[in-house]
Amino acid sequence: MLNSYTHNTLKYDPERCNGCKMCWAVCPHAVFELRNRKARLVRRQACMECGACERNCPTRAITVDSGVGCASLMIYAALTGKKEAACACS
Ligand code: SF4
Ligand code: SF4
Repeated sequence: MLNSYTHNTLKYDPERCNGCKMCWAVCPHAVFELRNRKARLVRRQACMECGACERNCPTRAITVDSGVGCASLMIYAALTGKKEAACACS
């Protein structure tokens, strides 16, 4: 079962999105989906504020204050081998 973060700092500006899918690819909790070549924030409550989406977004459409979530992401990346899932502090 995923942790639930209802008051996280994740912000997304769809006007800046170019549909590259990186946020979808790196997010360990499937917070974003891609529809009609745009990212959609579909599971905000699942965001653990790891910062991977912000770090990998080429258009700065996403901002998030990464905190303890980055430690969780490092463990996730080590377990899954997803090196692109780098947190904002690495
Ligand atoms: S990484 Fe940024 S530009 Fe790429 S799909 Fe996600 S929000 Fe859009
Ligand atoms: S900060 Fe991490 S958990 Fe939250 S949406 Fe971005 S990649 Fe997903």
